[in-house]
Amino acid sequence: MPSRESQKSKVNPRQVNEYVRQALAYAAERAESGYAEIVPTLAAQNLGLSSVEALAVLMVLEDAGALKHHYRIYCRPSDGVLADVESKKDVERLIYCKFCDKNHGEEDLNVELVFRIIPDGLNKLLSDRAVA
Ligand SMILES: [Zn+2]
Repeated sequence: MPSRESQKSKVNPRQVNEYVRQALAYAAERAESGYAEIVPTLAAQNLGLSSVEALAVLMVLEDAGALKHHYRIYCRPSDGVLADVESKKDVERLIYCKFCDKNHGEEDLNVELVFRIIPDGLNKLLSDRAVA
């Protein structure tokens, strides 16, 4: 096990648990409103967290099976969505853009991390938490 001493001084575990609880409530609210995804920057704004903190709690929910991350690739000139990929490695190849009718390399692409809501995992986590 790697040492976590360096983080311990900064992060209070009880506070992390509270962030996770709030993030879970946010995910449930999103799911109820019919959204299939969570965008970390919007979650950060909504939860009053920094983007690093929001990402950390979303990854806790992913580890718990409630979310699954992927990368969304946008055309930079048109801002159109081109593809969703599982791994950042898949971003490096050329992508055909239907908006510009040409292939784009990395310099013409924006990549955004998005978390997809896994309804079964989310519901299970919510019911586990309700019992605890
Ligand atoms: Zn394009």
